[in-house]
Amino acid sequence: MPSAASGPEPVGDVLKAVSVEMSGPRIITANDGRWGQVVSEEFSYAQAAGSFITGTEALVADAARTFCNENMAPQIRAWEQAKAFPVDLLRVASQSGLINMAIPEAYGGPGLSVRAACIATAEIAACCAAAATTFAANDLALKPILLAGTEAQKDEFVRALIARQGLASFCLTEPDAGSNPAELRTSVREDGSDLVINGAKQWITNSGIAELLVVFVREPGTQGNKGIRCVLIPTKTSGVSIGKPEAKMGQHASYTGAITFTDVRVPKSNLLDGDGFKIAMRTLDYSRPVTAAIGLGICMGSLEDALPYALTRVQGGKPIAEHQLIQRRIAIMSSLTLETRLLVLQSASLLDLGQPSTHTASVAKYRASTNAVEVADHAVQILGGYGYSGEYGPEKRYRDARVLPIYEGTTEIQELVIAREALRPYRNTQI
Ligand SMILES: Cc1cc2nc3c(=O)[nH]c(=O)nc-3n(C[C@H](O)[C@H](O)[C@H](O)COP(=O)(O)OP(=O)(O)OC[C@H]3O[C@@H](n4cnc5c(N)ncnc54)[C@H](O)[C@@H]3O)c2cc1C
Repeated sequence: MPSAASGPEPVGDVLKAVSVEMSGPRIITANDGRWGQVVSEEFSYAQAAGSFITGTEALVADAARTFCNENMAPQIRAWEQAKAFPVDLLRVASQSGLINMAIPEAYGGPGLSVRAACIATAEIAACCAAAATTFAANDLALKPILLAGTEAQKDEFVRALIARQGLASFCLTEPDAGSNPAELRTSVREDGSDLVINGAKQWITNSGIAELLVVFVREPGTQGNKGIRCVLIPTKTSGVSIGKPEAKMGQHASYTGAITFTDVRVPKSNLLDGDGFKIAMRTLDYSRPVTAAIGLGICMGSLEDALPYALTRVQGGKPIAEHQLIQRRIAIMSSLTLETRLLVLQSASLLDLGQPSTHTASVAKYRASTNAVEVADHAVQILGGYGYSGEYGPEKRYRDARVLPIYEGTTEIQELVIAREALRPYRNTQI
């Protein structure tokens, strides 16, 4: 460091030194704590900055928005009241490629990039967050099979399920194991050529409509994150019992419920190879950007609810958009939405580049969740009494947003993960 007396180092000299260094082989310390994860030697700026979308991605966004406007928007309030999502429409969404979005074509999915899947998910969530949760939970459930399954398992449980337009559930949480899945107790034991499963899962999305359950279980005599495995259980297997749908604050059209397993028998070939805890954590690295995209959709929809209203609602002789205190809310909403979009695209870009980043995925999920709640709250306030009314969008978005800081790892858990990952490069360094 130059001393104050010697003055700053001449910038020209610094740039000259850098250009010499760049002309030779570049040695990069990935994730050095200052610049975050370095993506590759030949990154494109769009991927690295994550702030632009491609023409193909724009087409995906348009297609998702059109699907939602034509098939979902007019019915959402009815589904909300019925606390149900039409299963027939799930089949249509599956055929249209809005479910299983990032599943490779080789396994029957449309094979979109994670970025494109996130962009479509945001569009779906801007229309109805419950639909986005329903669709995304299926992709979450199939990810462990893609990560750890054999070709035969991918064929039997992914390709065949998609061909039937069926859904899957990701079953990790238990009544006594939420934030800390290492405390899960659902057991698996071998019996001849079978596995026998006993236990209970809680808060499972698509419970009651999923054909396949991707269930995290514990081997006998193990504890903590050791001895956890992942087993594939068709819902119709004897001994599987589906609880009634939970009464929730929001996302009413998304099914959530408990599932119990009593002496459930499946063949050993239904067991995924490898450490189930690691499979679950790797899956969450992939799914958290998609959950962040649901938050982005809520932000986008909230802006669309509030801004036209603020321009037309006249109070005190002028549109409320001309009152500076309303402008402050609009500025916050707009800023948080942009922040959320950048984080979604950045975290998805890393996955597309084959560089899952626990840190970036958690930051995206963390900020998108809290931003969605805050942005939805501002929309309620801008619409005043109409914002509080169940007849208009903001009230539903506000209730729908509130689960984001809870599911897929709570805000507190994201904070722990982010702090752990931020500290990692500095551990064991000499001061
Ligand atoms: C609508 C909905 C859908 C869901 N879908 C699924 C699904 O499809 N599959 C699935 O497996 N799970 C699902 N979940 C479960 C969800 O992931 C859990 O609810 C979540 O992980 C929190 O667990 P918990 O509810 O048991 O809360 P707890 O773990 O009991 O936490 C309660 C509070 O304590 C805080 N806390 C806990 N531990 C710590 C700590 N170490 N430090 C600081 N604070 C802490 C939490 O952040 C939270 O605020 C769903 C939940 C909901 C509500």
